[in-house]
Amino acid sequence: MTPVIEVRDLTKRFTKRLDLAGRIAHRLGANIHEEVVHAVDGVNLSINRGEVVGLVGESGCGKSTLGRMIAGILPQTEGSVLLDGKDTASLAGPESKAAALAVQMIFQDPFASLNPRLRVEQIIGEAPLVHGYTDRSGLSDYIDDVMLKVGLDPSLKQRYPHQFSGGQRQRIGIGRALAVKPRFLVCDEAIAALDVSIQAQVLNLFMDLREQFDLTYLFISHDLSVVEHIADRIVIMYLGRVVESANTEALFADPQHPYTRALLAEVPRLDQRKRNFTPIAGEIPSPLNPPSGCHFHPRCPHVMPVCKTEVPVLEKHQAFREVSCHLDTTDSHDINNHSAQSDSP
Ligand code: SF4
Repeated sequence: MTPVIEVRDLTKRFTKRLDLAGRIAHRLGANIHEEVVHAVDGVNLSINRGEVVGLVGESGCGKSTLGRMIAGILPQTEGSVLLDGKDTASLAGPESKAAALAVQMIFQDPFASLNPRLRVEQIIGEAPLVHGYTDRSGLSDYIDDVMLKVGLDPSLKQRYPHQFSGGQRQRIGIGRALAVKPRFLVCDEAIAALDVSIQAQVLNLFMDLREQFDLTYLFISHDLSVVEHIADRIVIMYLGRVVESANTEALFADPQHPYTRALLAEVPRLDQRKRNFTPIAGEIPSPLNPPSGCHFHPRCPHVMPVCKTEVPVLEKHQAFREVSCHLDTTDSHDINNHSAQSDSP
C-alpha cells in the first residue's frame, strides 16, 4: 500500500543572518559567523491511510517544523515530501493545488490562527468558495453543514472568533480545514491550549471525523499521555531526529530508546509502581550547536564513548518498531543494567 504521506531525508536548517554590527565586525576580522539552526535533520517517515501517528518530543525538538513542512507551509532545505507516492515539489498546476488542499494543518492557538476581523462564515467559507467546492448560491448551506460536522451551531456563523470559547474556536479552526475536504490533517498541539475538560471533547471530535471522512492524522504533542489514547503509532523526536517509532501499545509496554524511557517516566500512570524509568535530566541542547554523535548523549544515563562520535542509525528492531541507539535496546536486561557500567555523560 502506498503511504498517504512519506517524507524522505527531510531536513530544515534556518540561517540566522548577521546584523549590521555583526557584518562589520566580521569584515574587520572578528570571529563572528552566521548561525545555523538544525531544526530537522534527515527525517524519514511514512504514514498509511487511516493511520493516526503521534509525533512527540520536547519543545524545540523540531516536531512543529516537521509538521509544517509536511503541510507544505514551510519549504524544506533538503529531502522530499511525497503525497500518495508523488513528490509534492514536482507537482504543478491543478495537481499542485489539489495536493496543497489535501493536507491541512490545525494550530495550537485557535485565537492566533483565526482572523479576528472575519466572521465565522467568512473564515470557513472563503477557501471552499475560492477553490470551487461550492458556488455563492450554495455557500450558506455549505458553511452550515461544515459547522454542524464540527459541533458548532450554524446560527452563530455571523459572530466573530472572540465571541466563542476556546474549545469552540478550535472547532472553527477544524471547520476551516475540513471545508476543503482534506485527506490528511497535521494537528500541532491542537488541544494544548484548551481546558482539560474540553481537551477530551476535541480529541473525540478528531476521532469522529476520522471515521466519517476517512482522515489520516499526524498528531504533534509534547505530551505522550495526550497521544496515547488516539495514536496507532508514536514517533519520538529528539533535537531534529527520530529516535524511536513503534505501535502505541508496544511503545508504552516496552519503550526501548533511553529518551523514550525518560519521557515515559514523566507520564503519570495508575501502574506507576511497575515502572522503573528515570526522569530525564537537564535541558534539551541548542539546535544551534547540537552535540556530536548521538544528540542525546549529554543527557543519556547509558552513554558510551561511541555515542559521542557516531550518529546511531534508525534501525528496524521488530515488525513495527524502529530505534536509533548504539545500545542493544532489544535486551531490556542490558539497558536496565548498563547505566551502572557506562561512563558518565
Ligand atoms: Fe544515544 Fe548512546 Fe544513549 Fe543510545 S546509549 S541514546 S546512542 S547516548
